[in-house]
Amino acid sequence: MTTAAQRLNENLASAQPSATYRMMDRVAAKRASGAKVISLSAGEPDFDTPVHICDAAVDAIRQGHTRYTQVAGLRALREAVAAKFRRENGLDVDWRDTIVCSGGKQVIYNALAATLNEGDEVIVPAPYWVSYPEMVQLCGAHPVVVSCDADVGFKLTPAVLAAAIGPKTRWLILNSPANPTGAVYTRGELAALAEVLLAHPHVLILSDDIYEHLTFDGERFHTLAAVEPRLAAHTLTMNGVSKAYAMTGWRIGFGTGPRWLLEAMEKLQGQQTSGASSISQHAALAALDGPQAFIAQTRRVFEARRNLMVELLNETPGISCAVPGGAFYAFASCAGLLGRRTPAGTLLNTDEDVALALLDEANVAVVHGGAFGLAPYIRVAYALDTESLRQACQAIQRFCAALSD
Ligand code: PLP
Repeated sequence: MTTAAQRLNENLASAQPSATYRMMDRVAAKRASGAKVISLSAGEPDFDTPVHICDAAVDAIRQGHTRYTQVAGLRALREAVAAKFRRENGLDVDWRDTIVCSGGKQVIYNALAATLNEGDEVIVPAPYWVSYPEMVQLCGAHPVVVSCDADVGFKLTPAVLAAAIGPKTRWLILNSPANPTGAVYTRGELAALAEVLLAHPHVLILSDDIYEHLTFDGERFHTLAAVEPRLAAHTLTMNGVSKAYAMTGWRIGFGTGPRWLLEAMEKLQGQQTSGASSISQHAALAALDGPQAFIAQTRRVFEARRNLMVELLNETPGISCAVPGGAFYAFASCAGLLGRRTPAGTLLNTDEDVALALLDEANVAVVHGGAFGLAPYIRVAYALDTESLRQACQAIQRFCAALSD
């Protein structure tokens, strides 16, 4: 029975827990019962954080850097962040134009929470990272989800963007390379979106560049504010160390954007976390200012895995997968499996049924496309060693071959 004291914030009460974490919990429960599950569900690199970064954190502890830092981040780290944006992205950024938060996720949340009011709208292209619409709703605003199907490479087009913008639109969220599809926007595609956005200066743009370094086939990464500098005053460019340096647990993200917005985010953060962990900030400083070879090495590894996964998934009856240009996800259609029955007797009506049956009957964990706003798909994260990926694909192939009509 719910008591009067147990009333939740209404925006939180209607929010969904992350589907990715839900699947990770299911995997943990299955493993605890003794099953050997291969998980292709987690959104994090499987590499260790490079040693020089860990050493910098240990040094920071030993040297006593264990106190509160400035709310917006250590000056030295903000300078390194500004230098990164200048060096890698061609953005004209001073350290005062930056903010450091506890993970890229908090950069996004702070920006939304600092600006959204009841009734505001945020354009979220689907398939989307699960957290975007939930964060928008937590802030009391309304996500306007626009579908970007396989035939447009899962990318937002200028016409769809123009049709979605209205007087209440406050933000457009762009994510390239994308989670869950691996789609990468070209410079030309961003320039075409910029044309539309220039005509609507009331719209802010959140450019989520967290997978920046994972682009394949020699394709270069581009970010909107560099492609169209006239949009820089309206754009929050967000990034972090989680995916680039295998530092998901350190919780350091950062952003650059107009000062009024960064100041509002800092004000919010000051009443919330008081800033990111001092030790992690020292580690992030070593990551940004230290040797960068890790990035190229991991990109090569992920590209080889991508090639393997796309090949094996496309050999699987009922599954088809376009070649993702970046990140470490394949977003595969499972339309050919729907309406069929598993050996255990489950009828596969939806992509969620497919994901659950794969876990139950093939011991492979993936996340269903519906959780990312587009069905029927499965998202396959290939942040695992090649042997495990092969075994997972063989298990998926056996599962699919054993389905009956
Ligand atoms: N943006 C996207 C698209 C992501 O997939 C993730 C993490 O999965 C994040 C942001 C958040 O990254 P962080 O670990 O820095 O909070």
